[in-house]
Amino acid sequence: MLNIVIFGPPGSGKGTQSDKITDRYGLFHISTGDVLRKHIKDGTELGKTAESYISKGQLIPDALMIDILDAHLDANPESKKGVIFDGFPRTIPQAEALTDLLEKRGTSIDAVVGLEVDDEELTDRLVKRGISSGRSDDNPETIKKRLDVYHSSTKPLKDYYTKTGHYRSIKGMGGIDEVFDEICSHLDPLSDAKK
Ligand code: AMP
Repeated sequence: MLNIVIFGPPGSGKGTQSDKITDRYGLFHISTGDVLRKHIKDGTELGKTAESYISKGQLIPDALMIDILDAHLDANPESKKGVIFDGFPRTIPQAEALTDLLEKRGTSIDAVVGLEVDDEELTDRLVKRGISSGRSDDNPETIKKRLDVYHSSTKPLKDYYTKTGHYRSIKGMGGIDEVFDEICSHLDPLSDAKK
């Protein structure tokens, strides 16, 4: 059982790589963005609140986001077999809360996989994705805001997880399979050690 955080800016390939990691290591995939978009689609109160932040490219406040994740873990017992966290944590308080949420469940993070892609390539990928995704936040203005928020609030987590010894730097500019091979070179030994 592994608990992995996949970390990186919007458009770095977190979703794509999470699907491949889920298959190979038998993990449960939690994308906080997907959880929020489901609430929006279902028209819940939480969805309405979430949409007001997402459409502006802002982060959902930490306390609310942490409660949502806690409830999602409780509602999905499959998460006990190990989780790939995609899009969480995005701030230092969320990282601290994740440690606590896992500790409460008798487990901990094994590694943080950091996909590193430069801003020019990210903007290009997100604008292209926007043509087909239908996402309210994949437009040039909101993309710029999301990248600004990434640099100011989320990127500090790279130092945070480097200090804890969890951070694994991955060159995210290559092709999907090439990036995945590099991720596996870090996760295979961890997975083997737990067998
Ligand atoms: P994503 O699909 O991960 O790119 O997330 C889309 C949007 O959902 C983000 O731009 C945020 O507005 C919101 N969101 C997702 N995860 C989080 C999080 N961990 N903390 C705060 N906001 C989040």
